[in-house]
Amino acid sequence: MQYFGILERYIFRRVHTFSFILCSSMRGTRASCLGQPDGEAVKNSQPSTYLFDGGYASFDSNGAVDGWHYYIQDYMGNNRLVVNKNGTVEQVTHYYPYGGVIGDISTNESLQKYKFESKELDRTFGLDNYDIHARQYFAMAPMWDRIDPLAEKYYGMSPYTYCGGDPVNRGDYNGRYNSLGDNPSWSLISGYAISRAELARVGADKNLRALEMDMTCVVTIVEIRPDDCDGNQFDYKSNTIFWSPERGSIRQVDLDDPTLGTYTSSPVEGIQHEADHGQKYNSNKEEYIKDLNTEDEQFKNKEERRVVTGSEQETARALGKISDRQVTRKHHKGGKTIRVSDPLSTTPLEVFPPTIKLPEFQATLKK
Ligand SMILES: [Zn+2]
Repeated sequence: MQYFGILERYIFRRVHTFSFILCSSMRGTRASCLGQPDGEAVKNSQPSTYLFDGGYASFDSNGAVDGWHYYIQDYMGNNRLVVNKNGTVEQVTHYYPYGGVIGDISTNESLQKYKFESKELDRTFGLDNYDIHARQYFAMAPMWDRIDPLAEKYYGMSPYTYCGGDPVNRGDYNGRYNSLGDNPSWSLISGYAISRAELARVGADKNLRALEMDMTCVVTIVEIRPDDCDGNQFDYKSNTIFWSPERGSIRQVDLDDPTLGTYTSSPVEGIQHEADHGQKYNSNKEEYIKDLNTEDEQFKNKEERRVVTGSEQETARALGKISDRQVTRKHHKGGKTIRVSDPLSTTPLEVFPPTIKLPEFQATLKK
């Protein structure tokens, strides 16, 4: 039950009209601002609910925390259970494929309102629509309340269609762009959902989230097989992340010092790494290209130095794979490519010999 022990301490303070909650993880090293409360968070000048990634804290009438509540999600990021810190189930929610709540087999429906795809279900006047950021979604219809702002990209379907009519395999986390391409495979959909949930759980999903939420950014994630080419990669020219949900790699930590051993990177770390590149390119194209072309003796270029020494290390630490004093690698050279069973695994099922570079692989796709 380690999942449920992460957020239990907080410091509450008020700055003018803004309220923040600060939490520190059990590792004691990471403190993060949990953001501002949602609309109902302050009742009668008392805090009532604070949302954080993965759950929320509730307060009693004196403003003291009286409960920590955690979401248990399925592969699509739907909140299926709410449990308290002792593991007691407080709410159960089952869904029809398009997100409608199955009342007969759900329990304690009114406890909290973040449900399908962890989005807020607004039951005011019986309208029952989900607030999916860009638009409202009527799960019972099932359709959006207004046309898709990117409808012209999808001429073949109604601009009110949810997830191209395939809600079992596809999610729509921002009401906008389909980042998994037009016909994503099941392994890509599930691999992405698992990775996203795991990164959210450990607080390392900043880059993936930014990509999903950015309207101007149209990064597409294309699935590769683990041995298609020499690694996952973000290609800025096509704004595409090439990623395998089954690909890991075993690398020497320090190429000059074999005594430091090896580090095995999992697919979830791979997508995070590439998402960091994608996020950087889409937030500052000029600087990204400049850094990509600024050579770096140790890490190939300045952009790789930024990612390898930055989010790559933060993610490995958040996942509990290295200590504060360790690093995943001190270079940007590939290692052995391995196939693993799922995005969180580092157990090699197969080890592949060195393979071709991504541009050569892309050329084979075009033929
Ligand atoms: Zn990179």
